[in-house]
Amino acid sequence: MSERAVPFHCPYCAEETLRPLETHGQWACASCRRAFALRFLGLAGDTSGSTGEEVSG
Ligand SMILES: [Zn+2]
Repeated sequence: MSERAVPFHCPYCAEETLRPLETHGQWACASCRRAFALRFLGLAGDTSGSTGEEVSG
């Protein structure tokens, strides 16, 4: 299973000056000097604890 999560923009300053760090999944922004990590959490198609019916009102 190949994991390829490549950010196109910095989530903090929205610049495209990202470059990968030595650790897999970690990136550094050359503009705002922030370093961050991408991690796959799972699928977000459903809300947790949902009973299939939404309560509103
Ligand atoms: Zn940045």
